[in-house]
Amino acid sequence: MKLRSITKRFGALTALDHVDLDIEPGKTTVLLGPSGSGKSTLLRSINLLEKPDEGTLDFGGGPIEVSQRLSDQRIREIRRHSTMVFQQFNLFPHLTALQNVTLAPVKSRGMAKAEARERGIEALTRVGLAEKVGSYPSRLSGGQQQRVAIARALALSPDYLLFDEPTSALDPELAAEVIAVLSSLASEHRTLVVVTHSLQFARSVADRLVFLEEGKILFNGDPERFFNSEDERLKRFVSVVG
Ligand code: ADP
Ligand code: MG
Repeated sequence: MKLRSITKRFGALTALDHVDLDIEPGKTTVLLGPSGSGKSTLLRSINLLEKPDEGTLDFGGGPIEVSQRLSDQRIREIRRHSTMVFQQFNLFPHLTALQNVTLAPVKSRGMAKAEARERGIEALTRVGLAEKVGSYPSRLSGGQQQRVAIARALALSPDYLLFDEPTSALDPELAAEVIAVLSSLASEHRTLVVVTHSLQFARSVADRLVFLEEGKILFNGDPERFFNSEDERLKRFVSVVG
């Protein structure tokens, strides 16, 4: 997909300043940058959780001008291209793992219950939770809960899986389980866009690395080139975070 000149202002603050970005299908794009640089806003713009003020999104059907009044139907169509996995897993506590995964396919996509169940079990198996389909979130570790959230996203079969700091609410050990799931999705050539603070993850999984600062892209390219950059700002970031 292509983002062109995406701009988002919050009052006097420009959170995204004419951002151009191509997200290559089948690849993993990692977004890095200091806190407040616009990473979440950029990710949220892809599925219009945040509506940019200017710019276009193109999922292959031609550029969509985001500033125009988009109908609810159009917004739903745009949203279907991508699914977001949040830092706080946002599972429903009163539903089992499987019910959490099948809810959206049944309620908002009109999928038959039996098919949703089959796909749900498949998605939970995919993230290593075949044994936990009937468990409630309170009986799962944080890492398992985040894997349920990933299964929930997978069950919707989006073109783009968006992750906003998926491991930052987890202890390192539990974060490692989630990183392993992300790595295996990446190796299947799904299209992932991941905001993270983990340089290790970026280094091992990213096909493309994007560095944001103050709402602008300062680097977009090969991860090794990023880590070996002579640019002072990039070097400073790597030395402080890493
Ligand atoms: P990051 O995810 O890189 O930490 P964000 O995209 O969350 O950064 O935020 C970018 C900038 O926009 C920050 O200065 C943040 O305070 C501001 N911002 C984000 N969301 C809002 C909002 N809903 N209202 C006002 N300011 C916001
Ligand atoms: Mg953020």
